[in-house]
Amino acid sequence: MSILKSDIKLAEIIRNELFRQRNSINLIASENYVSPSVIEAQINLLTNKYACGYPDHRYYAGCRYMDEIENLAIERAETLFSAEHANLQPYSGAQANFAVYFSSLEPGDTILAMDRTHGGHLTHGDSHNFSGRYFDFNFYGLDKKTERIDYQKVLELALKKKPKLIIAGSSSYSRLIDFKIFGEIAEKSGACLMADIAHIAGIVAAGLHPSPVSYSDFVTMSTHKTLRGPRGGIILCKRKYADTIDKAVFPGIQGGPLMQVIAAKAVCLKEASLPEFKKYQKQVLTNARMLAGALKERGFILVSGGTDNHMMTIDLRNKNVTACDAEKMLEHIGINVSRCSLPFDIIQEGKNGIRIGTPSVTSRGMSEKDMSFIAGIISMAVENFSANKKKAALMVKELLSRYPLYPEHI
Ligand SMILES: *Cc1c(COP(=O)(O)O)cnc(C)c1O
Repeated sequence: MSILKSDIKLAEIIRNELFRQRNSINLIASENYVSPSVIEAQINLLTNKYACGYPDHRYYAGCRYMDEIENLAIERAETLFSAEHANLQPYSGAQANFAVYFSSLEPGDTILAMDRTHGGHLTHGDSHNFSGRYFDFNFYGLDKKTERIDYQKVLELALKKKPKLIIAGSSSYSRLIDFKIFGEIAEKSGACLMADIAHIAGIVAAGLHPSPVSYSDFVTMSTHKTLRGPRGGIILCKRKYADTIDKAVFPGIQGGPLMQVIAAKAVCLKEASLPEFKKYQKQVLTNARMLAGALKERGFILVSGGTDNHMMTIDLRNKNVTACDAEKMLEHIGINVSRCSLPFDIIQEGKNGIRIGTPSVTSRGMSEKDMSFIAGIISMAVENFSANKKKAALMVKELLSRYPLYPEHI
């Protein structure tokens, strides 16, 4: 690294972060480890270029290679997801959602989305987010007993509220989402459907979760979660919306596209089309099921009782520990998790749920037997931290030593 010479302070921080990533078990469901090729594609001179506009219609000279890069990325996204149109410019999943709202709604319009405490995202109408400030959100949620989406309720709400847009997608829902039913509900109520597959994009790309593309007007996603690409977003839409979506992204809500990130998205989309990627996603799902089973065997309660995808939420209310304390204890021994709300948790929102996922540990090469090992460590730490923390930390170290991360990096 040449910044080792020019900016030793920053170089050291980056190196420390590399060591942190190497030396912890990452169970944060929204994170992943990209390939060295994805890293390379976005750390280079493409960052020098302004390319406002779209291929063949730029506001700057000298964009011919930018056009080639963006066209390649668009083509790969459209092919991978069988979509009529793709926009690769959103800086993140949140921007992708904002662009869809901006393209087809007026302030004050009605939207139907999943309640945040049941798994909806901040951009799905949270009062602290632009979405909640500018639109009239109504929320559907999970059935209290099954803790799965109550589609009948969604239909009733849609018919009653007549939203302009229905959002199907979640940040913590661990079950398959029936996009076909959502499509029918949207049709019956005269709404557009936006599927937000930020979390499950990689699983959808691998064909292991039913794709929303044919049922939805718009599909938005993050590229850095299960899709295992650079931080960023993608919008897919029907051809009839292509122009309005493109204009909503630029000049609607963004400036110059991050061409180095679009290049990295192209690399990630190529990787996602390979047989190894399908194998990887299969292992992500197998690992999640294994981890869920192993946690349940140790007395942990999971929302909806398990998982069909890459993540699950632990309900800590039967353990003598808050989510915040559990997060800290686990971080202390080298395991990273994230806190989240539990559906119908009237005690304290966000205090009793821990969301965990298997994309990162699977990228490191871990498989079923490692999942029960991890469940054992989590149990030891949460049940009796002071007695077990030393041993648990050693177990984490031992496991990680068998799955090196970025061994070529220094
Ligand atoms: C992560 C996520 C997003 C977007 O997040 P970014 O950090 O902006 O990419 C959007 N929707 C859902 C459901 C998410 O989980």
